[in-house]
Amino acid sequence: MVDLPLHPDTVAVHAGRSDFAALGVHAASLDLSTTNPLPDIAHGGDSYESMATGGHPLPEGGNVYARLWNPTVARFEEALAELEHVEAAVAFGSGMAAMTAAILSHTTAVGKRHVIAVRPLYGGTDHLLDSGLLGAEVTFCDEGAVADSIRPDTGLIVLETPANPTLDLVDIAGVVTQAGSVPVLVDNTFATPLLQNPLDLGAALSLHSATKYIGGHGDVIAGVIACSEHTAQALRRVRAITGALLHPLGAYLLHRGLATLPVRMQAQQAAARKLVERLQGDPSVTEVFYPELGDSRRLIGRQMRGGGAMIAIRLAGGYAAAEALTSSVRLFTHAVSLGGVDSLIQHPAALTHRPVAPEARPGADIVRLSIGLENVDDLLTDLEYALARAEAAAGALR
Ligand code: PLP
Repeated sequence: MVDLPLHPDTVAVHAGRSDFAALGVHAASLDLSTTNPLPDIAHGGDSYESMATGGHPLPEGGNVYARLWNPTVARFEEALAELEHVEAAVAFGSGMAAMTAAILSHTTAVGKRHVIAVRPLYGGTDHLLDSGLLGAEVTFCDEGAVADSIRPDTGLIVLETPANPTLDLVDIAGVVTQAGSVPVLVDNTFATPLLQNPLDLGAALSLHSATKYIGGHGDVIAGVIACSEHTAQALRRVRAITGALLHPLGAYLLHRGLATLPVRMQAQQAAARKLVERLQGDPSVTEVFYPELGDSRRLIGRQMRGGGAMIAIRLAGGYAAAEALTSSVRLFTHAVSLGGVDSLIQHPAALTHRPVAPEARPGADIVRLSIGLENVDDLLTDLEYALARAEAAAGALR
């Protein structure tokens, strides 16, 4: 990339493309090779050894095998790292595979088996940590109790901001201060690198479910972690051993998706703000959750550059209203996931957060909305119609 201070929207378009002119191409190539011809046993073996321990392929030994290294995946990683203002990124076959690798790489060293998890978290992350499946011991706490939860064997602190599904903002710099020398992982999925850069605030790892805004079109499942090269080596080692790699076609689509991420996020955020304003005046909605509202607002500007495009609402009519709302929308799709060009609506307690312990699960009266790129007035009309039906359905039961 040219050596100038560039705006993030320019970086999003040009990152991971600096060699195009030398290659004589205008679009990234898609390398689907699963294996690569070896120059000779000794050099191939040395390259294998380098990658199996988390390093890069050796030029004289080649890429060897795609579970260890793929150029299309590496190109996406380079672009994402640049957007997160750090030297490295490691991509995985899903956001959960990325989270798994982060936990394993920070809890399997001698004397480290404890993780602190700041709730609320995405239900899948909460479930992974609570399941004991990875052998780590986990303390769940709120953001004020991190310092008191640290033990000599704490290897990682996990937080999510904005948190799924209630959009709570966690003060990253505040947790980093409490953490001392313990690395902090921030799930940056909802904000994206366009609205928030956790590593600039002292976090060690910024994780994305790239399935969401980075891909942006609902056609790739992927995860990626931006971090130092030292941490990247540990993550690549886990990826190589466990086989949690991202398919190159996914990486190709994600790299392409990065170029439009700034305009998508700006437009989706503008629509979300307009919907928030209208929802706040709706008598069938008792609470609107959005990062630019309430206590979270203090971190807008300081930590996050805007509220993003996710909204949650609490319905006066409770679960019955949620049931009617999700089945009455015509433009919003009733589906889990988020961050794509089309608007989605879902009920976290029954779906994305179903595996969460009852005391930490979102209320049955909460519905989550992911705002897409449709005309905002059409979205409003759809929501107002569905909310009226929801209120009528809940009223009939009261
Ligand atoms: N983190 C957050 C905030 C999420 O919302 C999700 C999925 O919804 C994940 C992680 C897991 O990502 P994936 O579904 O790509 O495995």
